[in-house]
Amino acid sequence: MRALTLVADRKLELADLPAPAPPGPGEVQVRVKAVALNHLDLWGFRGMAFAKRTLPLVVGAEAAGEIAAVGPDAGVFKAGDPVVMYGALTCGTCKACREGRDNLCENVGGIMGFHLDGFARELVNMPARLTIPVPPGVAMRDAACAPIAFGTVQHMLFDNAKLEPGETVLVHAGGSGIGTVAIKMAKAIGCTVITTVGDDAKAEKAKALGADHVINYRTDRFEGAVRKLTGRKGVDVVFEHVGAETFNGSLLCLKRGGRLVTCGSTSGPTTTINLMQLFQQQYRIIGSFGASMRNIRESLAKMAGGMLPVIDTEVALADFERGLARLESRQVFGKIIVHF
Ligand SMILES: [Zn+2]
Repeated sequence: MRALTLVADRKLELADLPAPAPPGPGEVQVRVKAVALNHLDLWGFRGMAFAKRTLPLVVGAEAAGEIAAVGPDAGVFKAGDPVVMYGALTCGTCKACREGRDNLCENVGGIMGFHLDGFARELVNMPARLTIPVPPGVAMRDAACAPIAFGTVQHMLFDNAKLEPGETVLVHAGGSGIGTVAIKMAKAIGCTVITTVGDDAKAEKAKALGADHVINYRTDRFEGAVRKLTGRKGVDVVFEHVGAETFNGSLLCLKRGGRLVTCGSTSGPTTTINLMQLFQQQYRIIGSFGASMRNIRESLAKMAGGMLPVIDTEVALADFERGLARLESRQVFGKIIVHF
């Protein structure tokens, strides 16, 4: 079977791997149809000194496919069912797993496509407990964005930041995969959305998605613009994933008691913060990583209800690297999908 493998830092190879054995007890075999790219793929592609992994590694962290075969005791799945897969190999038995806090699993085996072989291959065996049915009417390319892009944002905005209807939220990088999702999810519950983008073409697209105010961070200091737009009050929630370049500005955008939720640091991992400001303004800073199985089901339900991901580009498996280059260049608005 075809599989896309990372053989060295920044070196991908299309390999011909043996097909997996028939699915064992509690497992299903999935025929992968679409893989969605995330910043995580870029981190993996560039190489990460601290990540424990063995190369070659099958890439792809977020995907959708169809059930090809069902092992014994694998629940209700049957051949042909559309599914998505959870992106980390959790244990299923620890306290966090039992309570449905899958992304806090105490014995997690690693992230697929990053520490462990991922989904950019024709067939993959998965534990049925980490496989989620896709509701009727949701296309493969859209479903492929549920486990990470939609799931992460669902978890950040609603489980962690506890975003409420009527609140104001600043979404950084409104043209990114998760930024586009955050705009849609926040607007869908009646929030006021302020977003940042790096050029005027993206500003138009962000407006079209429903953003109430769009700031071009290259021509305007976003901290000042947000304070002006909110009558100096600040926003209730900041959706962070840019990191070093924006973190302190993001804190300045919060109203007293505001919440900052972050899932990334694409511009760099380290910053200093003013602790006086932190406690006097009673900010809440919340780290968020991944999603629970429930978040992915909620995401798929939103897709079935008509909230679809913004797709920037669709490429064939052989062009995976071209997709990564597009992601790295930041010349992207929405998600990049790789088809099999
Ligand atoms: Zn666990």
